[in-house]
Amino acid sequence: MTERSLTVPAEKLEYVRSSYLDITSRIARAAEASGRKAEDITLLAATKTVEPEVINYAVSLGLRYIGENKVQELLSKYEYYDLEHCDLQFIGHLQTNKVRQIVGKVSMIQSVDSFKLAGEISKQSAKNGITTDVLIEVNIGREENKSGVMPEELEELIAQSAALDSIRIRGLMAVPPICDKKAEICNFFDKMHHLFIDISDKTLDNVSMDFLSMGMSDDFEEAILSGANMVRVGSRLFGARIYR
Ligand SMILES: *Cc1c(COP(=O)(O)O)cnc(C)c1O
Repeated sequence: MTERSLTVPAEKLEYVRSSYLDITSRIARAAEASGRKAEDITLLAATKTVEPEVINYAVSLGLRYIGENKVQELLSKYEYYDLEHCDLQFIGHLQTNKVRQIVGKVSMIQSVDSFKLAGEISKQSAKNGITTDVLIEVNIGREENKSGVMPEELEELIAQSAALDSIRIRGLMAVPPICDKKAEICNFFDKMHHLFIDISDKTLDNVSMDFLSMGMSDDFEEAILSGANMVRVGSRLFGARIYR
């Protein structure tokens, strides 16, 4: 890890510290309310626009998973992450022609939504002599112009992708539509949980439904209550994003 002499304001770090404690205790409560333990839920911090020094501070508090959603940003921050103490994943839309730039750098790609993309990840992983874990992203709200495979095409994509040698399917991911009411978003979370259970029950070769990744800053507790075991939290942990 390369160190830079960038001084982060103390107030910023204090904000991150108190948010981290608040988020982890809320996760623990939601986990218990859904019959699980705090450690059954993985908190992944969505780190877009966040300086590596601030991310590493959160890692020093105990954060173990981080996720970027843009290849360019991930590459520009890569040498500064404290990867001895945290695990880096890719959570954003991924173009096939950029796959080779991140394979080997991330432990999991959460956004596989086509066989073409799965095939390219497998091909680049084979070149590197590794197997890459992936989640299949589902367009659970059936929104136009949004990433994710349509729910009715999910099983076929999983069956096809499971036959690839150098990826391993570890679960499902979703970014539901923006909803005015909590009941609406819970409906999408429940649908995802059903898909997750249905596929788990099929016990397919090379598919292990270990992760159901859903829930963000405004709804991670609801997601956990609906069965999520990985939540992706950004702004609630780091503060509102400033795009430069
Ligand atoms: C930014 C992002 C999040 C987190 O969003 P917040 O609302 O800031 O918590 C989660 N998932 C993905 C894919 C993201 O890009």
